[in-house]
Amino acid sequence: MSRIAVLIVVLAVAGADAWAGPDRYVEARRAMVETQIKARGVRDERVLRAMLTVPRHRFVPERHLRQAYNDHPLPIGFGQTISQPYIVALMSEEAAVRPGQRVLEIGTGSGYQAAILAELTDHDRVYTVEIIEPLAQSAARGLRELGYGKVRTRTGDGYLGWPQAAPFDAILVTAAPDHVPPPLVQQLKEGGRMVVPVGPPGLVQTLWRITKEGGQLKFHSLGAVMFVPLVRR
Ligand code: SAH
Repeated sequence: MSRIAVLIVVLAVAGADAWAGPDRYVEARRAMVETQIKARGVRDERVLRAMLTVPRHRFVPERHLRQAYNDHPLPIGFGQTISQPYIVALMSEEAAVRPGQRVLEIGTGSGYQAAILAELTDHDRVYTVEIIEPLAQSAARGLRELGYGKVRTRTGDGYLGWPQAAPFDAILVTAAPDHVPPPLVQQLKEGGRMVVPVGPPGLVQTLWRITKEGGQLKFHSLGAVMFVPLVRR
């Protein structure tokens, strides 16, 4: 190929990439919602809209950018992962977060699930706890940059919840404990919902939706999942 031809090819590729930028991700989110999320039965319009709105690629490390909207979790460093899109949507739907409600997330990770929750209630009613300090900091920075700066982030052991901000209408646990943490049960409002994977570390866990009714807990299984373990300090 002549030098001019090579130059033209390079310009065409670079140009196409620049032009396709934002649109490519809009289309990627639309496809993600259709083929991964609606197709598996998530119906809540507000959740679907949140999944269309939040730029998931901004919560994914640069080297995995091209896989940001794929149907699987991705590494975010420190041995941790951003959950599969469908799991984020399912947990959000099961938590049934309504505007004005107070919600706690355990395991901030990338901050992506927290941003989805912020689309479902007031930003400043979303509380999220992460045990790995650098992850907590980069998630907080990412949330700020994307306009979710009012989400309340904290470094600490999420097993203990966030007692100062309790009680919560909904609690989402995005790392797997081997039993339901009693402090989280305590911090759940009467009529509130907790979505939590419970099971042995490194193996398959059961994802539970737990509701508190009349001081009693009702368990509903949402199926088998694989989460990173909830670790203790
Ligand atoms: N919700 C995240 C993904 C979570 S991965 C997202 O949207 O990207 C699970 C996270 O839980 C990891 O970042 C891990 O460090 C964190 N974690 C594990 N044990 C924890 C604990 N006891 N308290 C708070 N966070 C914990």
